[in-house]
Amino acid sequence: MGTYDTIGGAPRHDPAFDHDPPCAVCGLDPYGDFPEGKSCNCSECLVCGGVGDPRCFAEHGLTLDLYLLDPDHRLRNAPLSEIGAEYRSAGTKTWRRVGLQYRIAGHTFNELGESWVTSTEWRATKC
Ligand SMILES: [Zn+2]
Ligand SMILES: [Zn+2]
Repeated sequence: MGTYDTIGGAPRHDPAFDHDPPCAVCGLDPYGDFPEGKSCNCSECLVCGGVGDPRCFAEHGLTLDLYLLDPDHRLRNAPLSEIGAEYRSAGTKTWRRVGLQYRIAGHTFNELGESWVTSTEWRATKC
């Protein structure tokens, strides 16, 4: 969010921003120029520096920490099995994948109960 130049009190509209596509990963506005909207805060890919590029998951090993994302983020509202969700106890090294046999596989991160998220780290490995 920057400061707006105003003409007669109304925010000046810059047509250059009209056609920014939403972030392909989270579905939010990448530059925060929708006054009413939330903007993308997806992590940068450590390999290419890209943000909001779904190919980075497969090609660059990008993961996103679900527990750090905004609750409105698309990946926190998608079934865990679809986003390749993995979890581990905080402070441990081994990630475990949520398989289809898991009772929670069809649930979203936001729907998980306390016992699943307390002291546990979660990440998405695809989108
Ligand atoms: Zn995003
Ligand atoms: Zn990348």
